[in-house]
Amino acid sequence: MRTAVGIDLGGTFIKGAIVDEAGTIVIKEEIPTHAERGPSDILRRIEELARVLIERSGVELTDCAGVGIGVPGFIDTEAGVAVEVINIGWKNVFVRDPLTESLGLPVYMENDANAAALGEAFAGAGKGCESALCITLGTGVGGGVILEGKVLRGASHMAGEIGHIVLYPEGAPCNCGHRGCLETVSSATGVVRLARERMARGEQTELQSENLTAADVFATAVRGDALAQAVVAEATEVLGRGLAIAANIVNPVAIVVGGGMARAGDALFTPLREAFSRYALERVAAVAKIVPATLGNDAGVVGASKLALFP
Ligand SMILES: [Zn+2]
Repeated sequence: MRTAVGIDLGGTFIKGAIVDEAGTIVIKEEIPTHAERGPSDILRRIEELARVLIERSGVELTDCAGVGIGVPGFIDTEAGVAVEVINIGWKNVFVRDPLTESLGLPVYMENDANAAALGEAFAGAGKGCESALCITLGTGVGGGVILEGKVLRGASHMAGEIGHIVLYPEGAPCNCGHRGCLETVSSATGVVRLARERMARGEQTELQSENLTAADVFATAVRGDALAQAVVAEATEVLGRGLAIAANIVNPVAIVVGGGMARAGDALFTPLREAFSRYALERVAAVAKIVPATLGNDAGVVGASKLALFP
């Protein structure tokens, strides 16, 4: 069976895997990124990681379709350049051509959130769905759109930034420079912020301000805490509205929700599905199933490999 190497370049770790054309991971490995050593060192170790994986998997080089890389920043897929990767300090780093040359295999690049979305649509919760919206609820809200099995990139590679739909023009400041983006309310950070705001206003709660996490808020809401329930209601309401806006445009079969906050399970998904169906067009809501992501941290490598398997 044909395979490919999927690489997920992160700020702390570089994950790599050999993935077959059914989307199954044959073997995987991760190494530290060491961002401080600079781009050429990282590229050299990505090359080494790819070689080690191919060798250890016993895959013939002729059966390897190539290498796909998810990069956590702005990229230019035409030129094969990482334009800006803030968390590893890259600016205009040529990635594709040097690696193609050193490995002797075709190399493909994608933004990491898009690669993760592609992974879920290829072999995860969106498997078999030709169109999917994928979001990651973590520190921020990442998003990707898959149409007919391909990543929707847009004119400047910004398609799918669902987290930055402005829902409250007068709302809290967002990292993007605007105010009141979806992610200021419906990310893990947003949920904690909403809870803290209510606590500061003196609302009664069993939540403790110290080390407060979004998981605490969801768990406490389930136990009947009024403040936590109000926060969950607001975060899911806003997320449902944002997803409905995106879904009315894309008309997806699946909306895949991943990231740390998705672990809240029904406490998140039940009110989210309810809010979504209140705002999405009826025919849009009727076909769009909202499901938890299933690949977890492997989504990035699986999606990256798909770039090479089915270019
Ligand atoms: Zn924003």
